[in-house]
Amino acid sequence: MSNISGEVICGIDLGTTNSCISYLRQGKPFVVPVEGTSTIMPSVVSYDERNDKIIVGREALNRLAAFPNHTVRSIKRLMGKGTKVHLGNKTFTAEEVSSFILKTLVEKAEVITGNTIKKAVITVPAYFDDAQRRATISAGELAGLEVLRIVNEPTAASLVYDYVDNEDALTSPYILVYDLGGGTFDVSILELKGEIKEVLASCGDTALGGDDFDERLTSLFMRNLKEKTGMDFSADNRALHVRLKEIAEKTKIILSDNPYTTVKEASIVTIDGEPVNLDIEVTRDDYEDMIRDLVNKTIEKVYEALKEARLSSSDIGEVLLVGGTTRTPIVQRALADVFDIPIAHSLDPDLCVSLGAAVQSGLITGEPLGHILIDVTSHSLGIKTADIFDENTMGADHFSMIIRRNTKVPVRKADIYYTCYHDQDSVLVEIYQGESNLCSENTLIGKFPFVLKPAPINCPIVVEFAYDKEGIVHVTMQQKGYNNSKDVTLDVRNREVIDKDTGGGGNTVLNYIIEKYKKIVARDGLAPQLKQELVKLGTAYELALRDGKDEDAIDDIEARLLEKMEEAEEGEVS
Ligand code: AMP
Repeated sequence: MSNISGEVICGIDLGTTNSCISYLRQGKPFVVPVEGTSTIMPSVVSYDERNDKIIVGREALNRLAAFPNHTVRSIKRLMGKGTKVHLGNKTFTAEEVSSFILKTLVEKAEVITGNTIKKAVITVPAYFDDAQRRATISAGELAGLEVLRIVNEPTAASLVYDYVDNEDALTSPYILVYDLGGGTFDVSILELKGEIKEVLASCGDTALGGDDFDERLTSLFMRNLKEKTGMDFSADNRALHVRLKEIAEKTKIILSDNPYTTVKEASIVTIDGEPVNLDIEVTRDDYEDMIRDLVNKTIEKVYEALKEARLSSSDIGEVLLVGGTTRTPIVQRALADVFDIPIAHSLDPDLCVSLGAAVQSGLITGEPLGHILIDVTSHSLGIKTADIFDENTMGADHFSMIIRRNTKVPVRKADIYYTCYHDQDSVLVEIYQGESNLCSENTLIGKFPFVLKPAPINCPIVVEFAYDKEGIVHVTMQQKGYNNSKDVTLDVRNREVIDKDTGGGGNTVLNYIIEKYKKIVARDGLAPQLKQELVKLGTAYELALRDGKDEDAIDDIEARLLEKMEEAEEGEVS
């Protein structure tokens, strides 16, 4: 396939950690699978001295531990600085190393498109100076490309956003692009003036990214090994460090979608011929404590950018998330605390810059551009929880999101919740979709009880949602440490529970509503009339659940009971 001028022009995101390449096909940008099915290629180059061969991508990354002096990563940091790199007995400029990456990407795209590619749009960070931009053009030329344009990465990301079918019109012309990659962080504010996108402010930290998150976990593993063996390995064991960092990255990625993970790696080191294993559970909470200061640093930069653009957070109409590290939940939560608008990935954070570069190539050649369709969740999906800051767990209306709106499907996400009472009998799992923090303003998809085994208060319950393209959600509940789980399948589009597996435990539904109402009734000083009404409704509710009455009847009694309970709570406060 080629564009109307009979040639394929590609858009290249030449990243510090990873790179990718896209092209336009019938007015739509596509990203090229560069390594198997993977669309992102590590920006790593290695020189194989024995065969006098340049190796690029994942294979080069795999050589890093064994051939650290023949392998280079993050070459982007050296662009335009005149520094030379030594790979074994060869010396290269940064432009040459980057050209190897570009050439590899282009060769892959030529195979996929069946065309030779001679022209490209390449992206650079908004803060790149003239020398760095010129170096990028030279790298392109060394790879045999005519560089049609150098585009700022945030501008490219916003370009592709324009072409995604989006229900919500922007309420403000200001877009903030938050780009947290592997090794760098950039925040930019753009003003959209019709076709023109002006960068109003741009700042960041060129030495802050997901690699630093990995380092925090690597240190945890090092400490764990030290506790086990009494020996300090952190000194200069480079191969160990590389291996632990790889494990750290995997752990980090798992923790983006799961509340905890157990890291088990055999034979990390050997002491007196005896292998020492790594076996440690890491919770997302602990991990978030480790990286909180790094995330806060990025938020300080967000405020700096707002100040530079003379805007306040409420002026921003959209926050675009770019870079793989934006998948970290605490990053999104920290941004949600700053802005009033939903923080979500409307585009794939790894691909939007390169897709945007391809869109830019279409704008240059005048190719008509179509809308981009991406399979995403149309609403956020989550469960009702008690408000942890509120003693009154009853009348709880808090919506705890598990899968964010506009997340690419299929997707699997899990979160952890805690019981509110000692020996809590059960939880009533209520699944809602919507964008409000309050369940009452969202749509109930379904509810079911999860019967618990006796456990102390704050017993962890893992809730996992797996959402497929057909709008079916598989919910898995797990009482951690008690071998108690339950699977339920829901049809989100038709709002129904289509399959209940009650394997987790019988039908004694004594949910937290009942526990709470009993607590209220037991209080001194409750108006006798109110108490009587509460007991009446509470008993009716308990019986309705026990007898498996139809859902409408249960909902009706539940609503009346909740209302009365709220009345009792309010009476208490005043
Ligand atoms: P980029 O430079 O944009 O390619 O981003 C690469 C960084 O994103 C690396 O540090 C990855 O470890 C990180 N990353 C990729 N996927 C995830 C994820 N699911 N959760 C957290 N970090 C991720």
